[in-house]
Amino acid sequence: MSKKYVYLFSEGNASMRELLGGKGANLAEMTNIGLPVPQGFTITTEACTQYYEDGKINDEIMNQIEEGIVKMEEITGKKFGDLENPLLVSVRSGARASMPGMMDTILNLGLNEEVVEVIAKKTGNERWARDCYRRFIQMYSDVVMEVGKKYFEALIDKMKEERGVTQDIELTAGDLKELADQFKAEYKAKIGVDFPDDPKEQLYGAIKAVFRSWDNPRANVYRRDNDIPFSWGTAVNVQEMAFGNWSDESGTGVAFTRDPATGEKKLMGEFLINAQGEDVVAGVRTPQPISALKDVMPEVFEQFEKVCSILENHYHDMQDMEFTIQDRKLYMLQTRNGKRTAKAALKVACDLVDEGMITPKEAVLMIDPRNLDTLLHPTFDQKVLKETPVLSKALGASPGAAAGKIVFTAEDAKEWAARGEKVVLVRLETSPEDIEGMKSAQGILTVRGGMTSHAAVVARGMGTCCVSGCGDITMDEENKRFTLKGKEYREGDPISLDGSTGNIYDGIIPTVDATIGGEFGRIMAWADEYRTMNVRTNADTPKDAAKAIELGAQGIGLCRTEHMFFEADRIAAFREMICADTLEERENALDKILPMQQKDFEGLFKACKGYPVTIRFLDPPLHEFVPTEEEDIALLAESQRKTVEQIKAIIDSLHEFNPMMGHRGLRLAVTYPEIAKMQTRAVIRAAIKVNKENPELNISPEIMIPLAGDATELKYVKDIVVAVADEEIKNAGVKLDYEVGTMIEIPRAALTADDIAKNADFFCFGTNDLTQMTYGFSRDDAGKFLNAYYDRKIFEQDPFAKLDQIGVGKLMKIAIQLGKESNPNLHLGICGEHGGDPTSIEFCNKIGLDYVSCSPYRVPIARLAAAQAAIKQTK
Ligand code: ADP
Ligand code: MG
Ligand code: MG
Repeated sequence: MSKKYVYLFSEGNASMRELLGGKGANLAEMTNIGLPVPQGFTITTEACTQYYEDGKINDEIMNQIEEGIVKMEEITGKKFGDLENPLLVSVRSGARASMPGMMDTILNLGLNEEVVEVIAKKTGNERWARDCYRRFIQMYSDVVMEVGKKYFEALIDKMKEERGVTQDIELTAGDLKELADQFKAEYKAKIGVDFPDDPKEQLYGAIKAVFRSWDNPRANVYRRDNDIPFSWGTAVNVQEMAFGNWSDESGTGVAFTRDPATGEKKLMGEFLINAQGEDVVAGVRTPQPISALKDVMPEVFEQFEKVCSILENHYHDMQDMEFTIQDRKLYMLQTRNGKRTAKAALKVACDLVDEGMITPKEAVLMIDPRNLDTLLHPTFDQKVLKETPVLSKALGASPGAAAGKIVFTAEDAKEWAARGEKVVLVRLETSPEDIEGMKSAQGILTVRGGMTSHAAVVARGMGTCCVSGCGDITMDEENKRFTLKGKEYREGDPISLDGSTGNIYDGIIPTVDATIGGEFGRIMAWADEYRTMNVRTNADTPKDAAKAIELGAQGIGLCRTEHMFFEADRIAAFREMICADTLEERENALDKILPMQQKDFEGLFKACKGYPVTIRFLDPPLHEFVPTEEEDIALLAESQRKTVEQIKAIIDSLHEFNPMMGHRGLRLAVTYPEIAKMQTRAVIRAAIKVNKENPELNISPEIMIPLAGDATELKYVKDIVVAVADEEIKNAGVKLDYEVGTMIEIPRAALTADDIAKNADFFCFGTNDLTQMTYGFSRDDAGKFLNAYYDRKIFEQDPFAKLDQIGVGKLMKIAIQLGKESNPNLHLGICGEHGGDPTSIEFCNKIGLDYVSCSPYRVPIARLAAAQAAIKQTK
């Protein structure tokens, strides 16, 4: 039998999300549980994929859509283009994962001049009929022309100005008819053909446009940010219209069963009387809070409350719903598990456990680890905050604290951020085109729009602070300035936003770090119960290490010792070492560094409270340490009793064409064993000293030798380390266990891991270098051409952010298998950027790593991701 590409709502259910998309699956589920849903059908995501394969909607799919239309006409008792009883539909995109505002929806499809005349007469509601038509032309044109919205909005604004009105609803039937004609003329001018009158032609045009919208630039950016593969495709829903613009006893709205900002259990939302679809989110008019519906239409409100509780109990999660009221009758148009702030996510999960709706395991699974990032962002310094007067107040649309310089466009936000500025993006309202700029900003401030406006929804998704709907602002976007409370603000002026309270402050308020407590702590404790992999941190200072331990790290997976050499009090000694002519001179310089380095390690050991600490020996090429300024070169020359020319000659001699593949890592220890010796002494002496003072810590340090590619090479360096360590231990007359391991970051090390493992107590995958060397492109330069790879869909993800499980992952698996065969006690970790990325963590769990190591603020994310990986793996 051929594949089924079209499902009536009555044929689907919530578990068919992959095929029907989230929207379609839930429309079907709501139909099944008897809620009032305008009926229709869903064209599957597989049809979308097929469309991209064929470059058109193929005959088989066409036929099934035709059948769907016939069935839909039977169910509704209406017909496309019929003059007696015309069927009007919406055509709605809906992917597997929700992508709010990223793709297109068209309402009131099926209208043409003739049909409009008929329904106007038949209903006696000409204004409504005309309003539907102008909206349809507007949306259809926008979707077909991609970014045509502005032309039509300009025409509406002009019409309003001519009529001397401010609101859309003040335009008369006659005005709307004129607008429709103008819109059609605009369409013809831009596209070159007449606006289609045939409802079937309109329908296929719309379906194709939705398929195409899956590949629009903003959808592509959103997908990359949210790990959604292109291959998933989007479904298309064709649904009978319900008309919120029918009368003043009609309307449209959106609501959450719990507060998406705080998680508090109370109905939250907004609606607009006599309005349709986008009006609420587009900020055309300012909507009323959902509670006001109780006064306007009490019986509808009561029914809606019931529907809310049915849906929550059914889905066991907070719901985000879209509804329309036509002539006092309620229609449900969408439900989904609501997007929420991290804070709300934690509270809702804990509350649902306490309400007996879900288990702790389900609670752990329902929180997106990436979302936690926002909780780990700074908040305002409370002391300064208290002393700072509130400049103005608007809606706290997405929590967090933001302080930065004002910019007025998304492009400026991107540009300024790229050069290291902290910026706050101030806009009249945001649109999906602004998404990249919003990402670059510390915070977003909009003049228009409610809690469900585009800016609010997108900001919450990104975890960026957002204050919306600040009507106090008089905006002059064109000249990049605005006035607020009598003061003029220009580009570059400092401003601060509190996304929780909606408060706006003049100037910069300093921010402070976040901590884990309350519900966050509860979820983390549950996560730790299910987690099998350990989570360590990458930290070079006692302060970072202490922060990471506080956030739940179980030790250090990577301490980069080179960072310690850059500090002001020791860089001089290190440069002396580099410029030394003889071994003796080098050793003298290193002797100066030894006690400082020992102190560093003592601090780390103490901060880690007995958890393992892995110390990586010097890794970067030496030229990174030499001075570049004339002044510094002269100083160095003087202290070395050399001429400036001699120093410059040394510096030149360190130049490498390909430093990342140059004289670095353990290659330094091969040529200058005295560096490795000094570092070994520092580690061992520090451990002995700390153990003596704090026997309960029982430190056994892990020494990590970077960049091995060959077993003999590693053995050569390891023997040096072991000899010095054992000598130190013997001299001190104590017992001390220590380990020597290596990083696996060169493909050859992975391929010869059996030999390498004979000289290593542990492997730690340095996936930054491993990715670089496996692909053969430099991490520092790849950014320049990778964009072309994303555009051409050769890559969907940055391999430096998301582990390449196919290639780099295969090398990891080979290394683990070979390594364990020859050394069963070998322990395994990862310490690249990937150690803090949830999907990469899941992979690490699968291939059997003992720990991941990530930056301190990603530790809670890694703990949760590791728990989810463990739960999924036992399923
Ligand atoms: P998005 O995914 O961007 O939310 P939707 O497909 O949900 O797009 O459509 C946006 C809005 O259009 C809905 O919230 C609803 O108000 C309106 N809408 C969609 N379909 C219908 C319909 N059949 N009847 C009435 N309104 C509709
Ligand atoms: Mg929607
Ligand atoms: Mg490396």
